[in-house]
Amino acid sequence: MQVLVTGGAGYIGSHACKALARAGHLPVTYDNLSRGFRSAVRWGPLEEGDLNDRKRLEAVVARYRPEAVMHFAALSYVGESVAEPALYYRNNVAGSLTLLEVLVRHGVHHLVFSSTCATYGNPRQLPLREDHPQEPINPYGASKLMIERMLRDFGAAYGLRSLSLRYFNAAGADPDGEIGEMHDPETHLVPIALQAALGQREKIQVFGDDYDTPDGSCIRDYIHVTDLADAHLLALDYLRGGGASTHLNLGSGHGHSVFEVIDEARRVTGRPIAMEIAPRRPGDPPVLTATAARAREVLGWQPRHPELAAILEHAWAWHKNGSRASN
Ligand code: UDP
Repeated sequence: MQVLVTGGAGYIGSHACKALARAGHLPVTYDNLSRGFRSAVRWGPLEEGDLNDRKRLEAVVARYRPEAVMHFAALSYVGESVAEPALYYRNNVAGSLTLLEVLVRHGVHHLVFSSTCATYGNPRQLPLREDHPQEPINPYGASKLMIERMLRDFGAAYGLRSLSLRYFNAAGADPDGEIGEMHDPETHLVPIALQAALGQREKIQVFGDDYDTPDGSCIRDYIHVTDLADAHLLALDYLRGGGASTHLNLGSGHGHSVFEVIDEARRVTGRPIAMEIAPRRPGDPPVLTATAARAREVLGWQPRHPELAAILEHAWAWHKNGSRASN
């Protein structure tokens, strides 16, 4: 089966492409390479293009006639979205609207959407369940929520069936070491800790040690990127099997503090990691953890690497072997 993968050159998208190819499908990456890397596209063709370029997108969809779409392409920095909301609404929301219109026009009816726990905003109860109110506190989360809403409306009106997967903190790397986490600029905790272990940066800043948590640092639910990729394949099967549109959390159910992640990174790498306490980062809730019970029920999804140790070991294997790739 041909599957259009928007954002297939990005971190999670590229891992999904590998999983698709392994399952015998052809992932066709559509990516403008603004944040993704050409070198991460290895399991199918790369069609360079922007979601807002309707003509180009139409041509690619007409050429490959995909049976389904995995939609990862998006800008995803919370801080940047606060500073430049127009960029986020243009790229994420308007781009997705163009995509959905093109899909409907070409009779593509199945879509797996890369959503986020940032659509919930500040948690009222933890762990977060899918029925928690969605009140995003930044334009990034708002842009993803708007897309979830469009999907609902497109489902009712045009029969597009979709599964929105709300990720918690994606981390780790392909256990075979072929691809891994790479952002430019890098803002994420795990790669920053590993860069510090490698001496590529002097130290890691801990954004706040005065939160109301046991050690004072923020707690997040880290989920292995290949477990996310697996969930996307199961989501595809679910939709092809006639499953109704829905949304599911993807997390491990366990939280780890920033200090715990840094300690585990020291243990796994066997290297010192210097750190300093820095001010809180605006928009960071103290704790974000998921219950993924529904994903287990609906998809039969079972994370294969739920432990932080495996996440860090796989990420370290990739970083150590020169994660730098060029476009
Ligand atoms: N964090 C940190 N120092 C860094 C990067 C991140 O203390 O250099 C913290 C951040 O404040 C958050 C957690 O690590 O509490 C995870 O942040 P990340 O950016 O990896 O993911 P996010 O939770 O923003 O999706």
